[in-house]
Amino acid sequence: MHLCTFEHLGSTQIGVLRGKELITLADKLTLPQGGLFSAHQPMIDLITHWPALHAQVAALAAGAPADLLLDGVHLLAPIPRPGKTLAIGLNYLEHVQESIVGESRTVPEHQIWFPKLANAIHPPFDDIVLPRVSQMTDYEAEMVAIIGQRCRHVPAESAHEVVFGYAVGNDVSVRDFQKRTSQWTLGKSFDTHAPFGPWITTADEVGDPHALEMRCWVNGELRQHSNTRLMMHNVWAQIAQLTQVMTLEPGDVIFTGTCSGVGAAFNPPKFLRAGDTVRVEIEALGAIVAHCVDESVDDGVAG
Ligand code: ZN
Repeated sequence: MHLCTFEHLGSTQIGVLRGKELITLADKLTLPQGGLFSAHQPMIDLITHWPALHAQVAALAAGAPADLLLDGVHLLAPIPRPGKTLAIGLNYLEHVQESIVGESRTVPEHQIWFPKLANAIHPPFDDIVLPRVSQMTDYEAEMVAIIGQRCRHVPAESAHEVVFGYAVGNDVSVRDFQKRTSQWTLGKSFDTHAPFGPWITTADEVGDPHALEMRCWVNGELRQHSNTRLMMHNVWAQIAQLTQVMTLEPGDVIFTGTCSGVGAAFNPPKFLRAGDTVRVEIEALGAIVAHCVDESVDDGVAG
């Protein structure tokens, strides 16, 4: 199933898709504790109650009349405010090789993790803002995994059981801010720099998440093209590592790493500029598309 969060006539709701048709879920699902799933409940609540609601949503997707058309709504990030968003760095060998040219680093021994903070989460088709403090904003096509249940110390062998679904992401990165310190947090967490979507494709529909073609175009030029099977640490290994450290919860978001072809690796580099269009597409998961705009000069302290 394809599940989305969207804005329409001033309200934010969630829905299930049937092709280009959208079926809203508010007031149509009976919660396990009684009562109906309300218009105010976010995607995280649907994921939390998924074992009890799954069949009801499937029935709506199969037979309910459409409420809206996908083209008529503003899609938001499927989870607009994840509890946490974690991203793995240097997880495709060819991207490692293009990233360490001229540096003393080698292929990392351990998984490299950094957060993308909540301010960075962004709708799949909204403009990416190029910060005024840098000329080195870059794209990174990535598959995104969404956690389905509270879990800790999950072995890789059973990690597939805790994934709710997958989406398409762009781990937008400000390279000078990223590389001038050993911690990447600031360079990875500028406003608007974690767009993902366009919806969540549930894990049962994806099948093997490690066999998906992924591509990124800038202004129609193919810059990145790989396959998720080329991850060095696959999604299961990532979840095993993360849950040694922390409890993962429904709706937590994992950016699973980018492949080669980022703008910084070209000579000369091909960083994003205002007016550029970035399209990231992953087989079976859809595509997200964004125009790039310069940060406006009148953004100051909000009154
Ligand atoms: Zn990345």
